[in-house]
Amino acid sequence: MTGPVADPRFAREAIATASDPGCEAPTLVSTGGAFPKDAKTLAIRWSGFSNFELVYKGQIILLDAYFDRGNMFPPLGFKAADVKRANLILIGHGHADHMSDAASVGAQTGALVVGAAVTAEKLLAQKINAKQVRTVTGRGGELLEFPGIKVEPILGRHGEPPKDVTAAFQNALKPFAKPATPEQLKERAEIRSRGTNDPRVVTEGTIAFLITLDNGFRIMFRDSGGVVTDYEKAAMARVGRVDVALVAVSAAFLHTLTAQRAVEHMRAYKPDVFIPAHHDAEFNGLWRATEPLFRTLKEENPNIVTVSRGYREPICFDTENNILRRQTR
Ligand SMILES: [Zn+2]
Repeated sequence: MTGPVADPRFAREAIATASDPGCEAPTLVSTGGAFPKDAKTLAIRWSGFSNFELVYKGQIILLDAYFDRGNMFPPLGFKAADVKRANLILIGHGHADHMSDAASVGAQTGALVVGAAVTAEKLLAQKINAKQVRTVTGRGGELLEFPGIKVEPILGRHGEPPKDVTAAFQNALKPFAKPATPEQLKERAEIRSRGTNDPRVVTEGTIAFLITLDNGFRIMFRDSGGVVTDYEKAAMARVGRVDVALVAVSAAFLHTLTAQRAVEHMRAYKPDVFIPAHHDAEFNGLWRATEPLFRTLKEENPNIVTVSRGYREPICFDTENNILRRQTR
């Protein structure tokens, strides 16, 4: 199909002839898109900030749920109300930009929603069946099992970008930013009311999720760019490496600081593939640059694969090819 060279223009033609829409169409499976044809295929789709959809063996896992972001943001191409099917929703932490649609999407899909206590409290104050909400601490012994998939919550830590740096960037942008209209401010306040700003989010409310498939393929999801905790170090000492790390870019803006944190994450999770998260922004804000971060990761590990796609564009993996299998073969 692609000829002797991997000319990227042929990828478009491949989509047109769709040999596997589950790996080619920019449509979330949770909103009605196709499952990958092969049950062993893992399809990952990013949908803004730290939202990802994972599809494997007929199971749909949503990582974070912040879809209706308001009209200050680039459109994702779907609404929270369109998310009709999911088996599991893992919420990394309770800030609105990670959980504002968790209750409504949980209620309309019937999925189990998992998060720290401070996240669960906020969820239970909204319209969702309490039986669907699972509280975890990430301090060990909380393995969650689903068909073909195991999930281990691990206590992480929220990012704490230097306030002088973030304030300087925000002040620099202010004179050029188009002010929000009263309608936009009202919309933003309503969205923010569906998340929490409790200070516990930083220290005990940020959960990394280690997801292990039945053939040993491992995924680490880390939705905030905080320091690597002793809990994460202990988990990684036990499992060694992950195949894919889905990691939030630190909010520290300066390349030196965001790249330094990404390197810490790479050293901790030792992934084959690094996929960034939380790098997009509203129209008045700055996207967090991923290229300088990728370049720094590759200086230390030239073999690491970095992948950044647009909203909803699939990234498919043959999960039979994984680190654990290669080590034990
Ligand atoms: Zn946050």
